[in-house]
Amino acid sequence: MNCKICEASLEKIFSKKILLKYDVDYHQCTHCGFIQTDEPFWLDEAYRNAITSLDIGILKRNNDLLQVVPKFIDTFFPQSAIYLDYAGGYGIFVRLMRDLGYDFYRKDIYCENIFSKHFDLTDIDTRKFDVVTAFEVLEHLENPVVEIEKILSYSDNLIFSTDLVPKEENIENWVYIASETGQHIAFYTEKALHIIAKKFEKNYYKKSSYHIFSSKKFTKEQIDYAINDRATYKEFFGLRKKRLDFRIQRPGLLEADYVKIQKILHYKMLNRK
Ligand SMILES: [Zn+2]
Repeated sequence: MNCKICEASLEKIFSKKILLKYDVDYHQCTHCGFIQTDEPFWLDEAYRNAITSLDIGILKRNNDLLQVVPKFIDTFFPQSAIYLDYAGGYGIFVRLMRDLGYDFYRKDIYCENIFSKHFDLTDIDTRKFDVVTAFEVLEHLENPVVEIEKILSYSDNLIFSTDLVPKEENIENWVYIASETGQHIAFYTEKALHIIAKKFEKNYYKKSSYHIFSSKKFTKEQIDYAINDRATYKEFFGLRKKRLDFRIQRPGLLEADYVKIQKILHYKMLNRK
């Protein structure tokens, strides 16, 4: 077995009991630091309930995303108009982003769409999006490079989250390993993400656990504003300096979506007779 990211050799770093019963080794790449498990034969069992009962942080994570993603989109992709949330789970994030005025759609073949019904990839003809998002997805991937290529087929720009392998902490005790659920099987370093970005000819940017692969090269002003959270200024008629603000005012889609869904439901009810 070689590194799934850069093909260099691996080194076993520890073993865990996956799903409390299977002894599984974790291997770290000697070149890029990426960590992968033994070939995961337990995934069917691990996904019997796609979002596990241990995942009580799901709403907090969505709230956290709202602090970051709209700012990323407005700053780095101001011309963007349509978005896809890949492996979007119950559709919570899509609904929240639509409420803020971002025309988001959901894709997830493993999980029922509960909160963003009628705003699924299966509801539209479009297969190209200005930005695709994938939160807490990469650590689940059995074949990261192949899967990321699939994700990037939807857009030239990808915003995603995954926690990076800690540098100081004892990796064996890192909560992200989450061996009892058996779902986390791929753990990335910054170097591994740089290598992946390069494979797909993307620029790579990061802000803590949030990452961006983009065909675009961002300006210093954009990076200072959205990644470093630093106020930046531009010359104003060569005299005063004006504070740069990349945020875009958007009307929310809640009312329009309500009307759209109402029409769909009426149509269905009338045709049932
Ligand atoms: Zn590697």
